[in-house]
This record gives sequence, C-alpha cells and structure tokens, in this order.
Amino acid sequence: MLKAYKYKLNPNKEQIEMFEKHFGSVRFVYNWGLEKKTKTYQETGETITSHQLITTLPELKEENPWLREVNSQCIQMSLRNLDNAYTRFFREKKGFPKFKSKYNPRQSFQCPQSCSVDFDKSTLNLPKIKKIKVIFHRKFDGDIRTVTISRTPSGKYYASILVETRIEAPIKPELDKNDAVGIDMGLKDFLVASDGDKIANPRHLKKSEKQLIKLQRRLSKKAKGSKNRNKQKYKVAKLHDKITNQRKDFLHKTSYQIVHKNHGTICIEDLCVKGMVKNHKLAKSISDVGWGMFSGFLRYKSEWYGKNLLDIGRFEPSSKMCSACGHIKSDLKLSDREWTCSKCRTKHDRDINASINIRNMAFTNQNLIRCIGLGQPDSKPVEKTDRRKSKSVSVKQEAQGSLALG
Ligand SMILES: [Zn+2]
Repeated sequence: MLKAYKYKLNPNKEQIEMFEKHFGSVRFVYNWGLEKKTKTYQETGETITSHQLITTLPELKEENPWLREVNSQCIQMSLRNLDNAYTRFFREKKGFPKFKSKYNPRQSFQCPQSCSVDFDKSTLNLPKIKKIKVIFHRKFDGDIRTVTISRTPSGKYYASILVETRIEAPIKPELDKNDAVGIDMGLKDFLVASDGDKIANPRHLKKSEKQLIKLQRRLSKKAKGSKNRNKQKYKVAKLHDKITNQRKDFLHKTSYQIVHKNHGTICIEDLCVKGMVKNHKLAKSISDVGWGMFSGFLRYKSEWYGKNLLDIGRFEPSSKMCSACGHIKSDLKLSDREWTCSKCRTKHDRDINASINIRNMAFTNQNLIRCIGLGQPDSKPVEKTDRRKSKSVSVKQEAQGSLALG
C-alpha cells in the first residue's frame, strides 16, 4: 500500500541554494515542454509525448548548461507531470496546463529515484543534495517511491515522501445499503450524515480568515517596494500557512471520524467544486471548507481502513427529492432548512434528507457501475473482486462486472 508522509526540513544555506536551483530548472523545463507541445500541435496537429521531449533534453542542456547542475531525474519527472496534466485536461476536463511562474510563492520539485532517509541522524539524502536535516515526527517502514520538496509562501521547506509500505490493504466489506452512510456536504454545516450526525464548520478557521482579510487590507495600503510592505507580505504568508494547516488538520480529523463510523460503505456526492464556485455568493464558503480536499482524504483513508467509497455524480436532485417517496420538490430554496413532502407528508430536515438520498442513489445499479468503474482511479478494487466472487446478489454482481473491467 502507498502512504505519504510529510516532514518539515531544516536545510542549510547551500541546500537551500540547491533547492532553488531545482525549482527553477524543473519550472523552466516544464514551460519549455508545454510550449513545444502546444506549438507542435498548432502547427502539425501532432502530439509529442514526454518520452519524445526527454530524448531532446541533451540539446536543451547544451543551450542551457546550468540545467546540468541539478538532478536530471527531477527534470524528466517534470515532463512526465506535464503529460499527466494533459491527460487530466482531456480525460477529466480539468483545465488546460498553465505555464509555471517563478513568482508563485509555492514551488516544488519531485525526485523519483535514489532518495534515502537516516532516522538515527534525522537526515534525508537526495541525488546532488545530501544530509538535509529533517524533523521526523514519525517513522515509516517501507521503500521510498518519490520525494517531493516544496517551499511554502512563508519560506518553509517540506518533504513529502511517498512510501510503498509493507502493509497489505485491508479487505473491504460487502456492499450493503443497510451498512452504508450517506454524506451531504453543505454550507450551514460542513457535513451531515444520513444517520443524523452533523459536523459544523470550525470556528477557529473563520477567525483566522477574518484576520487574514484584515492583514491583506493593511498590505494593500503599504507603498510598493517598501520595507514595511515586505514585512507585511511575510505576515500575510505566515497566516496563510497557518490557515492551510488548520484546514488540513480539520479535514484529516473529520475524514478519519467518518471512516471510523460504524459503516462499511460511505456514499458521497461527486461535487464539481469548479462548477459551483461560479456562483459568486457561494464561492467563498465553498473554497473555504475544502470539499475537494476532503473527498480526496476520504478516498485514501477508505483504502487504508477497508471501507467502500461510492460517489453518486452530480446533477442528481439530492436536496429536492423526498427520501421517503421520491417526489421532487422543485421549488425548494436554499433557505428552506425544513420542509414537508406534499405527496407523502414526511417532514424532512433538508440536509439529513439529502444525505439519505445520496446513500440511496449510490446503491442504484447505474451508480454502482459508474462509481466503481470510473470514480475511484486511486483504489485497486480489482483485487477484491476475487474475494467476493462467490456471493450472488444482482446489484453486487453488476458492480463486480465493472470492477473487473475497471
Ligand atoms: Zn414524500
């Protein structure tokens, strides 16, 4: 099983210099690749792959000899990442790859090979950069796949280490509607579960965000290029880091809580956050609560702890449909917190009704095929097919058919 570990680094001056050289070089090569790909496509209609680009790297290095100072694996990796960005654009409609800017306060590079750690000496070794001091708040056991070095806006350095652990993924339980919980992610509460549980948005995060707005307003009043402006800029970046950490912390705790609920299957809505952010009124709240990150956390934690995760896609009228009789109340407003079904007279709490709908929707045949076949690119459900082969419930069978295909 793959697991990621993130550690804070305490690099010395020379190491920082090397980090910066790597950030610059991978950015340069990524942009060069992007330009080549776009131009070739415009001129000839053909696509160049990262592999083709990698074969022309020696020429690029001839023209830009400073590229030789950095680990060549990192450069090749950035071209592979460019390929991935293209794939995401075409397959998942995720937005065309953009040029990377050196003014982006967040920079990173990836080492795919020859990285090692020394827990006794608290150091990390990368090709061309050895003995980087690391704060190992926890150890891991396994083989290092990749190491990603990043710099935050406030100038801190981190290493994300992806490890192939020697732990086998736990077996997931049968898909069973009675053993499933639906999760509705909302604005009033962060989420509402079909068993009635509600988790509120954290207050401390709101407080920090208010403070950030204040600091940013102060920053805009400082003269450009002045010492005070730089000082203020650093303050803003530092608070920004703090908010990011607070949010991640909340999302980690909450996803852990959901995965450890007494249910074998978790059903969520596949919220296309991008589509929703277009609605300006909702924009801030949505980006604040970080739903996208949350469903990502849920996804991998479900793998770790042996839970099924189903998503129902969007466009389903999950709030407007009566979970008891299926009647759709088309005039339900966002402000209606409680409503009564005009057909079967069931009284509903808006969010709990929605989360029950999400659970029910996830267990329709069509959704089982869609979700398991395409919706979980990170999981390896194929393995589990064999273990479940002997069972025979029609819905499960269909799902398994798509498992084998996916
Ligand atoms: Zn009804």
